Amino acid sequence: MIRRLSFRQQITILVGLLCLVLVGVAALGASYIAYSRTKREIMADAAETAATLAAILDRGMAERFREIRNIAGMQPLQGIWTRDPGSIRKVLEQLQATYPDYNWIGFAAPDGTVQAATRGLLEGASVAERPWFRSGLDAPSVGDVHEAKLLDKLLRPATAAEPLRFVDFSAPVRDADGKVVGVIGAHLNWAWARERLQILLERKGTFRPDAIWILASDGSMLLGPERTTKPFADSLIAEMQQSRNGSLEWGAGSDKILTGFAVTSGYRDYPGLGWIVVSRQQDNVAFAAARSTVATILILGFGVALLGILLALFIAQGLSRPLQAIIDATDKIGRDPKIALPPFATGSREIVRLSAALRSLVRRASAAENRVLEVSSQHQQEVSALTRLAETDALSGLLNRRGFDLIGEETFLQFKRFGRVFAALIVDIDFFKRVNDTFGHAAGDEVIRAIGETLTTQLRSTDTVCRFGGEEFVVLLPDVSRDGIVTIAQQVRRAIEALRPTFHGKTLAVTVSVGGALVASSDRDIQDVIERADAALYEAKGAGRNRVVINGLQPQLASAVA
Ligand code: GH3
Ligand code: MG
Ligand code: MG
Repeated sequence: MIRRLSFRQQITILVGLLCLVLVGVAALGASYIAYSRTKREIMADAAETAATLAAILDRGMAERFREIRNIAGMQPLQGIWTRDPGSIRKVLEQLQATYPDYNWIGFAAPDGTVQAATRGLLEGASVAERPWFRSGLDAPSVGDVHEAKLLDKLLRPATAAEPLRFVDFSAPVRDADGKVVGVIGAHLNWAWARERLQILLERKGTFRPDAIWILASDGSMLLGPERTTKPFADSLIAEMQQSRNGSLEWGAGSDKILTGFAVTSGYRDYPGLGWIVVSRQQDNVAFAAARSTVATILILGFGVALLGILLALFIAQGLSRPLQAIIDATDKIGRDPKIALPPFATGSREIVRLSAALRSLVRRASAAENRVLEVSSQHQQEVSALTRLAETDALSGLLNRRGFDLIGEETFLQFKRFGRVFAALIVDIDFFKRVNDTFGHAAGDEVIRAIGETLTTQLRSTDTVCRFGGEEFVVLLPDVSRDGIVTIAQQVRRAIEALRPTFHGKTLAVTVSVGGALVASSDRDIQDVIERADAALYEAKGAGRNRVVINGLQPQLASAVA
């Protein structure tokens, strides 16, 4: 198919295709690389988001842990724990004031009775069975998130739907001898974690989680967008716990979700509770940036390919223009007289050589043509000279029998087709033998020549005079009437009678007899007419010579028809 296209179209298509393929491959490769790199970055960012929150939680918890331990173990405060509850409460309330996320800080005696607490809450009540108290008796400890029990009724705002949740910090208080005199316990409101989580939800990174969970080490939910106890499958929890920090794609197809996760691991001497931070975003949202990079590269690639095709069109036009000019001009040679040679084209070396070769070819061809023309015109001249020679009588210069036949036949055809009447005369010299015998053959020749000349001058240019050989002449008279023949024949006869040809000083007077015939519808051809004229000549000879006899008319004496 491509072979039937023009050179310009071929170049455009081939170069355009080349552009499309090269740019297409480059664009696809580039977009693949860009996509996987951007995806990797986003996944790393998702892992980092989770790790950041885990670190924030760890540091916050470590801070509280250190705080409570410090208060419990601080030397200067040692004396107050055995004093009146008012002084203890003051210290505790001061501490709460510096960090309002503490909902409750209390000091319980070794038997579990609350000695003093912020706002006096639960003072006198027993916390002996509470885990924080029990573990606090032994060493500084942190308790995982739990719902408030006694304090929920006292502290929960009327508008809050959810029960209060606390993280507990506790530490033993010892006297100078190292004997435990009580336990300091603090309830950190779990809303504290929610605030930290919020910071992350509002971040402006490549990965912006639309949901974040904080899970306990067993996978149960501590904080999250919905209220479920176990939002993730155990297998996923196990996977996260194993890798500790990273990101993975969870789910299949268009429901794929990018999940970043990090397991808290404590900070300094705070051992950590093994919480799992999980941040999630729909795959198609998370990788929108990667896809837009791909789209940009592909659009750019398409643009470059388009530019390439336009360039191909331009190049093809430039390459084919000189070729087209050569074709156009060469096509006009021999048709348009103004153009004799193909143009001297400029362009590539091949184009220049092609145009030079064509010019040279045309020059050589026209030289050859000129030679052929020359030779053929020479031939024509020679042929026509030969023809003339073949149709001419050498002695008189008149047409010979051969020359006459063509004209005679044509004249007869004109009569047959258009009714153009004509006549034939045969002129025969009287007693010519005597001329030869008396004056010699050369003298006879001179007489024949002189009579031929006289016939030519006496007759019209449209009449045909010829010599068949011997001393006999045939004359064709086109467009002549019955009377006209006699007049012309007599005129001829008289002119020859008056002729005085000389040969070597001797005068040779001769007469002629003339036989004539007008063409008739009964004639089959020119020979029939001539035969009738010949019969008339025979009559003229028989009647005494020097006279005219026209076939079908009365014989008349020459002198009588003056
Ligand atoms: P008639 O009146 O009956 O015609 O008598 P004639 O002598 O003319 O007739 P004939 O036919 O007997 O003689 C013709 C002569 O013409 C014979 C020949 O020698 C002569 N002749 C024929 N051709 C030529 C020619 O080319 N040159 C010369 N000089 N003589 C010729
Ligand atoms: Mg004769
Ligand atoms: Mg004769």
